Amino acid sequence: MTSTSPLGLIRNIGITAHIDAGKTTTTERILYYTGVSHKIGEVHDGNTTTDYMDQERERGITITSAAVTCEWKDHRINIIDTPGHIDFNIEVNRSLRVLDGAIFIIEGVAGVQPQSETNWRLADRYNVPRIIFINKLDRTGADFYRAFDTLKEKLDIIALPLQLPIGIEENFIGVVDLVEMKAIIWEGGELGAKFHDEEIPAELADKAAEYRELLLDTALSVDTVAMEEYFEKGEVSVETLKRCIKLGAISGAFRPVLCGTAFKNKGVQPLLDAVLDYLPSPVDVEGIRVAGEEDEEDTPENVAKRRVIPVDPAAPFAGLAFKIINDKYGTLTFVRVYSGTLKSSDSVMNTTKGHKERIGRMFQMHADKRVEIKEVQAGDIAAFVGLKDTGTGDTLAASEDPVVLERMAFPVPVIDIS
Ligand code: GDP
Repeated sequence: MTSTSPLGLIRNIGITAHIDAGKTTTTERILYYTGVSHKIGEVHDGNTTTDYMDQERERGITITSAAVTCEWKDHRINIIDTPGHIDFNIEVNRSLRVLDGAIFIIEGVAGVQPQSETNWRLADRYNVPRIIFINKLDRTGADFYRAFDTLKEKLDIIALPLQLPIGIEENFIGVVDLVEMKAIIWEGGELGAKFHDEEIPAELADKAAEYRELLLDTALSVDTVAMEEYFEKGEVSVETLKRCIKLGAISGAFRPVLCGTAFKNKGVQPLLDAVLDYLPSPVDVEGIRVAGEEDEEDTPENVAKRRVIPVDPAAPFAGLAFKIINDKYGTLTFVRVYSGTLKSSDSVMNTTKGHKERIGRMFQMHADKRVEIKEVQAGDIAAFVGLKDTGTGDTLAASEDPVVLERMAFPVPVIDIS
């Protein structure tokens, strides 16, 4: 796939979690399964792909916000690294601005922890659509249902299971997929890459039926046509159900919940499928707006008046620099492109600072290599080398439409995605 993928095939996501809940491990597994990472860097070796800085390696936490690109089933997933540690909330803030959706990881033993709550509220502030992954179900003391209850109690949300675990702790072997009503069983092996479908085990049949009912009632409630279809025929197609779950996930009407163990490689591939199925592409959310006048307040009325930048590769270019990393090749400026198309020979305006910038080389960062690209389009993310004076939060825009993008606001969900 080139950098010019159709907009609907792009997902710009973050992974957010309480420290130690498994964000790094899950990212590693995702990079592994997407085939980009050929060797797995274990956290305890301090050899993880998203860790750029020695400091992080020492602490075992990720404090930078680089973006890694991977491919899954003909889609491009850009993972924007949101720091998990409480001290780095300003960093989290910055990266949340450029996400279209997020995976929110909680632990299967402790459930929602204080820092998960902080991160959740931040994501709420930016209206980030989320799917939840209950991790570490292999650990002693793990309890899916108890962890699930903490979602409702501590976050006050309608959490909606799309899966139920089969077995727990060392006997955790798979999940019941409540959307397709089948069991997914992992076959072991060091990397757990293999799994197969089975009938739902007899001892879980009642529970699966109960939760399927809940899934249908909750998911279909976002779409009256789908609900009527269900009442008439007594069933709905998998496509209709998935469409309703996506609507609910994007609007925040409910929060889909999946589960597994990233460390033991169970549940990560279905999680990737869920990213494609339920998290929005750049065109499923309203575009970013231009910034207000300097002295204008960000009241909802004022914000609503401001122009929305079209998510359109043919429109004038507009992008936001969201992360700057210095490495041995020089300064890398990570830019989320909201509109237009930019070629490596182009010049743009830094409209925040009011000067021209010449674009030199452009890259997309994969787990183990940087891939040079010749152009980047609306909806995507790229790292630019050689920008002279562009800081985090600056807008880069075409000189024929030198907009300044809003710095804090996050694109709000568009409800109609059908
Ligand atoms: P982060 O701080 O959220 O990035 O968490 P890490 O991915 O660094 O994981 C923290 C610790 O938990 C590491 O020692 C991981 O090996 C371990 N871990 C991560 N996922 C799992 C899991 O599914 N099961 C178990 N048992 N351990 C896990």
